[in-house]
Amino acid sequence: MLQSSLFMRHLVRVALKECDDVRIRREQALTACCLAVAAETDTGLETARRAAMLMDCLGALRAAHAPGRALQLGMGEFRQGLRAPLAPLLPPPGDVDDQFGELRLMDGAGLVRDALEDLCREHLVPQAALDRHWPWARVRAEQEERRLFEVMRRLEPEEYREARALLAECPAGPLRVLRKRWDRLWMRFDFFEAVSDWPWCQLEGWWYPCPKCRWPMRVVETGQEVEVRCEAHRARGVHYRLSLERGGRGVAPTLVGTGRASEPVVGLPASVDHLALSRPVWRYGVLPTLLEIELRDRLKAQAHVRVEMWPGELRPDEYDLRITVAVPGRRVRTWRVDAKDWASAAALAKALLEREPKPYALCIVVPDHQGHEVAYLKARLTGRRTKVLTLTRLVEQVKRAARGVR
Ligand SMILES: [Zn+2]
Repeated sequence: MLQSSLFMRHLVRVALKECDDVRIRREQALTACCLAVAAETDTGLETARRAAMLMDCLGALRAAHAPGRALQLGMGEFRQGLRAPLAPLLPPPGDVDDQFGELRLMDGAGLVRDALEDLCREHLVPQAALDRHWPWARVRAEQEERRLFEVMRRLEPEEYREARALLAECPAGPLRVLRKRWDRLWMRFDFFEAVSDWPWCQLEGWWYPCPKCRWPMRVVETGQEVEVRCEAHRARGVHYRLSLERGGRGVAPTLVGTGRASEPVVGLPASVDHLALSRPVWRYGVLPTLLEIELRDRLKAQAHVRVEMWPGELRPDEYDLRITVAVPGRRVRTWRVDAKDWASAAALAKALLEREPKPYALCIVVPDHQGHEVAYLKARLTGRRTKVLTLTRLVEQVKRAARGVR
């Protein structure tokens, strides 16, 4: 009896180890594909350098496949494969459900998909061959998210709340404005970079803040057309095209809104004294903070509902929001909420699984446009006292509770 249960445990361990092995191999393969797409679509690269990078990526991709199942793939097929769903390029998934197979890294026009850099950072598996070319890929998303929250953790609770609000209100702009607004936090918050170092957001020497998150929007040129869009808010209708009417010298080119949320925007000079929060701080600091603020605002006028921002019972960064519904004569209901806006649901699930479980039930809120990933996240987080839902679903749930509906 003991023998057989030991044997069973051994089998389970072997199966788990195999699963981990496949997971890592698939992440390695995804990293190689992301970096290959970045090289493939970087118009500033010399041909010889691009070819060398693609060779490195193909080498890394081949190495990610198990020895007995070598990938028979030439350079031409590899480049073709990058333009389609990734499944044929990746090691077989076995029991691993990471949804990488359906991922498309390029769109129909051969352009790199938005948030590719975040996706790569979230799944990054360090590979010496690739590291040489891609300094931005060296830091994993979780490490960068942790560094941000380490800095935040050292702040006094009052300063912490101030910093969170500033993340949402002041993520980019002229140096003198930022310095004034961030004031006493300025020296401790060394996450700003010069917009002039970011070619991807520049249009003839100008950059455009997104009307929703105020961070630089991406400039995408396809043939004659130029599209300017926020990588996070394009799905919510934040995109523009370049106007055919040209302004004079020293005037930013005019953008024409093409989406339902394309409020008028004005270009700012992409000079060394215009700064923006680093990309990881935008993704893992600014975007979730905006979700939290939206959640608070949508529940503000609701009777019997109380929303506290960054309340944390022990520390203000413990979780993001506490929502309490107290309808007279009914049991008080509480939601402890963490907002997350990751490019990859698989990487988010992994990061959440690596955390210590909390002593209370936690609600993970994701943006509405990630609604199709909720079921996957729920399945990965089974048994963790963690609920996952979109912002709108949570608002509906709280409002129902406030009306006394069970
Ligand atoms: Zn935005």
